[in-house]
Amino acid sequence: MSVILYTEKCTACGQCLDACPFAVLSLEGDTLVIGEGCTLCGACVEICPEGALELPEMEGPAPRPGVPPDGVWVFAEQRHGHLAPVSLELLGEARRLAAPLGAGVAAVLLGDQVEHLAPTLLAAGADKVYMAESPQLADFVEGAYAAALAAISRTYQPEIILAGATYAGRAFIPQVAAALETGLTADCTAFAIDMEKRLLQQTRPAFGGNIMATIITPRTYPQMATARPGVFKRLAEPHPQDGQIIRVELESLSGAGTSRFVRTVEEIKERLPLSEAEVIVAGGRGLKEAKHFRLLEELADLLGGAVGATRAAVDAGWIPYAHQIGQTGKTVSPKLYFAVGISGAAQHMVGMQGSDFIVAINRDPEAPIFKVANIGLVGDLFEILPALIQEIKNDRT
Ligand code: FAD
Repeated sequence: MSVILYTEKCTACGQCLDACPFAVLSLEGDTLVIGEGCTLCGACVEICPEGALELPEMEGPAPRPGVPPDGVWVFAEQRHGHLAPVSLELLGEARRLAAPLGAGVAAVLLGDQVEHLAPTLLAAGADKVYMAESPQLADFVEGAYAAALAAISRTYQPEIILAGATYAGRAFIPQVAAALETGLTADCTAFAIDMEKRLLQQTRPAFGGNIMATIITPRTYPQMATARPGVFKRLAEPHPQDGQIIRVELESLSGAGTSRFVRTVEEIKERLPLSEAEVIVAGGRGLKEAKHFRLLEELADLLGGAVGATRAAVDAGWIPYAHQIGQTGKTVSPKLYFAVGISGAAQHMVGMQGSDFIVAINRDPEAPIFKVANIGLVGDLFEILPALIQEIKNDRT
């Protein structure tokens, strides 16, 4: 379905072409052409001075079904018997969201011989753990995982499902949302509850990170979202562990989906994974050359930290992509973040602004990074960094 064009009114003035955020409008001579991909956003309708464009009549919203009984769920991602940290972070967030709803929190654990992980999930915030064990779930396969989570969800009916925006989450959670015929917001960076309407507000960067969009799922359940690792905080104190483990028996998952597990290839890891580092020293285009990243490595080594980078530095080939922080890189929230020669573009800041303490070094006093910095050092990084490194070394001798 697309916007309706009244050709007799259209003067081919072209204003709607600039207004369309999705570039689906074009002019062929004096004829306006509406291409594929119209989202019915209405921007062209508003701008058209001739009233030549109109939104089609939409069906009224379906009545919202009753609130499902089973509260806030977190998909507990595990691989080879180790839980993904994002699942524990999301359990902390789930508790915060469940409190005003008066709802419980559950984790959904899929795998084979994974029961030993349940106490960790309970301590991280779950009141109960739904656990499905099967050899068919031993290795991550999208179709089987999607079928399992959708089946458990149909049986127990959660109000909300959260999952990590990891490789696995990104691969199979959309399939779960499609199977349950509900919406999904990917890569969220903040959640809130609209108590008046009892809706999960799902906030994520949009339009290249230039705006933050808050999305709701007002007509269907469950309300589903994925969130990036490192954005949300785990519970500060362990949740009392008197929760239940509920074993779920699933029908055969063979034939679910079209992919099959072949083998696991170990990932080549950077020195200290950014996601685990409490200190990150990140550099940008201001470093000017690959060899200057040595300075960052030296400071990171002294502080037991990891080295991060902006996309500009990665694109320049100074450091591998695994170090990129930001919208199209990793999201981090270390205790201490050094931003060295980094301007502070929105796409970078979205990946690091959850850091507890930010030190920015930049010679431009107007650099946007100073707006989020706890300490800003205005000056030449090639003077400041060696002096800082020397000072730390002196302090230790
Ligand atoms: P610049 O913006 O060029 O800043 C360099 C800074 O170094 C300047 O502020 C300058 O004053 C300072 N400087 C220069 N010399 C010195 C010196 N001697 N001493 C001190 N300071 C000095 N970017 C990311 O980082 N991560 C992402 O994930 C990401 N994703 C993106 C996704 C999209 C869709 C788009 C469009 C862009 C994305 N970007 C991302 C790019 C982003 O918009 C910026 O271009 C990038 O972050 C800029 O990197 P920078 O700060 O290193 O470079």
